[in-house]
Amino acid sequence: MPAARSDTTRSAVSAFDQPIGRLPGAGPRALEKLAARGLATLQDLWLHLPLRYEDRTTLTPIRDLQPGVPAQVEGRVEAVERGFRYRPLLRVAIGDDSQATLVLRFFHFRSQQVNQFRVGARVRCYGTPRPGQHGLEIVHPSYRVLGDDEEAALGAQLDPVYPAVEGLGPATLRKLIGQALDKLPDEAALELLPAGLLRELRLPSLRSALLAMHRPERDADLAALAAGTHPAQRRLALEELLAHHLSLRRQRIAMQKHRAPALAGKGALARKLQDTLPFRLTNAQQRVFAQIRDDLARPVPMLRLVQGDVGSGKTVVAALAAMLAVESGKQAALAAPTELLAEQHLNNLRAWLEPIGVRVAWLAGKVTGKARAAVLADVASGAAQVVVGTHALMQEAVVFHDLALAIVDEQHRFGVHQRLALRDKGAVLRQAQDERVSSVPHQLVMTATPIPRTLAMAAYADLDVSAIDELPPGRTPVQTVALSAEKRPELIERIRAACTEGRQAYWVCTLIDESEEVVAQAAQTTFEQLSASMPELRIALVHGRMKAAEKQATMRAFKHGDVDLLVATTVIEVGVDVPNASLMIVENAERLGLAQLHQLRGRVGRGAAASTCVLLYQPPLSQMAKQRLATMRETNDGFVIAEKDLELRGPGELLGTRQTGLAGFRVADLSRDAGLLPQVHQLADRLLAEAPDLADCIVARWVGGAARYASA
Ligand code: ADP
Ligand code: MG
Repeated sequence: MPAARSDTTRSAVSAFDQPIGRLPGAGPRALEKLAARGLATLQDLWLHLPLRYEDRTTLTPIRDLQPGVPAQVEGRVEAVERGFRYRPLLRVAIGDDSQATLVLRFFHFRSQQVNQFRVGARVRCYGTPRPGQHGLEIVHPSYRVLGDDEEAALGAQLDPVYPAVEGLGPATLRKLIGQALDKLPDEAALELLPAGLLRELRLPSLRSALLAMHRPERDADLAALAAGTHPAQRRLALEELLAHHLSLRRQRIAMQKHRAPALAGKGALARKLQDTLPFRLTNAQQRVFAQIRDDLARPVPMLRLVQGDVGSGKTVVAALAAMLAVESGKQAALAAPTELLAEQHLNNLRAWLEPIGVRVAWLAGKVTGKARAAVLADVASGAAQVVVGTHALMQEAVVFHDLALAIVDEQHRFGVHQRLALRDKGAVLRQAQDERVSSVPHQLVMTATPIPRTLAMAAYADLDVSAIDELPPGRTPVQTVALSAEKRPELIERIRAACTEGRQAYWVCTLIDESEEVVAQAAQTTFEQLSASMPELRIALVHGRMKAAEKQATMRAFKHGDVDLLVATTVIEVGVDVPNASLMIVENAERLGLAQLHQLRGRVGRGAAASTCVLLYQPPLSQMAKQRLATMRETNDGFVIAEKDLELRGPGELLGTRQTGLAGFRVADLSRDAGLLPQVHQLADRLLAEAPDLADCIVARWVGGAARYASA
């Protein structure tokens, strides 16, 4: 768009950045509380949107009150009763012209309050009536005692109720947000979206959208506001989604300005690996490997996400990709989020690669002292061709000789920044070698958490996505049953039978929102109970509080078949591969999300034996839990489950809080607003082509400093 706009747009952005401290009502204490909640600028307050509204624009006759329907009432005190039944209690009966009585009931009150309620005093109150002993009552209404001839105006707009800020009273918060709204710039100064577009989409300007959210008129469509489908909400969500999408697109563009080593060898080493593998690649694996190979052959950094259900065989695809780097005389690194998983990768890669003469090094937190120094030296000299490890790989002390491919497994466990930290390992060194261009390694990201397409487009506009959508042959689908915890004795029989036949089983103890300590304790108790009821079985325990060495020894024993039943916390969730295990019991399954249940179930069904997953639940089940368990029984398809999960839970949790910043949406909700995405994409194309400076402003306004890697 014309350059003349840029002054306006700049001021539109800076208006958003003004600190709250400039507001008259903001004292140091309030500022501190707000800051603790992440609220620092006027924009933060503008976007601190109401949770719901209270309608104080009318008075409801007491006779017309409905249980459960909030209302404002005015009446005169008819009787006051103060008592101590089990705890202090104050009851105030008020009546109005409708000849009905309402009881206001208080459990916490000061004597000053009691004195206010003289018989005959005028009281105006707001709250939700419920059936009580003597007709309807409101517990702890908000109220005001009015003077006898006081003219108390009714509200002209609905009153917003804001998400609480700890340590700050709701009235103060409301006042501050009100002051911030008074400073909203006029329409033209605030607006970044082209007016024509807003007309086309029938969406309000930013200013009117914000005002409509904070100060809705008395006839506002409350149902639409509650559902999040009001044009004002859609307008805000559209701009926010657009900002995130643009920011990811910019990252991608910035990324493509970098160079990367073209790994264009003949692929002899990868072929050698394929020839020595004990299995043939599935078609899906071949297709994805071919896509990666095309990417790697180009001198532009690859940034590819490989999605594949648990057990679909992502590791071997990663190993093949690594061979392309090694063949070109360069290095590849594979990082996994837990030591257990990293160690498993190490074992797989060593088994596959050492026979074909490739050196695999291991770097985890527990590799210390001389051993660490030796590994670091090998990594720095290039003697280590493939390096497997945990976060330890991303530490500063780790210097690669020539890192060409950075592979990150289970992306959802890492943040974007960590992924970039590994990439930067290659960047620094290459710059030193070749000062003309900055070159970065290719990046391959693997995840077993399938992400629905809509979400993937929003979350990963900066990545190319491949799917391994086929399981290796010879796997029997896992049969899933849901079992009430009362049936535990039957289950014990089942485990005994399976293990006596030489099969192995997992028993997973889960507790959500509890500390690792508590979960570990619960697992310990279960372990003791199971050991007592099945003394003939070899039962072992792993949990997150155990030492890494102890955990690994136990896992190894299980893998070797020296343990029949493994009692575990969710530490086993990701990546553990024991083909002989064919029975999975998940305790308290009703508390887990679909993605996690699916991950856990993926631990079995890896061998030829028919496998069973038992979801043990504590009745009664909530509606949501019922649906989740039903979904698990109905399908084994990770993509179907992901779609259902999105529907049931919303995307924040699906992607994990450390995801690309998606969880940080202020207004948008991807499961609700997914319908806006096609528009967002079109709009982004248009803005990037016609008004890149405007696109920058939109990103700055919504994503701001969070996009530190935008220039990466
Ligand atoms: P995930 O995609 O969950 O990371 P893995 O890479 O751990 O899966 O593979 C699961 C198991 O399947 C491993 O034991 C692996 O060796 C094996 N596997 C991988 N590809 C194939 C294949 N094409 N045929 C048979 N087994 C395979
Ligand atoms: Mg894996």
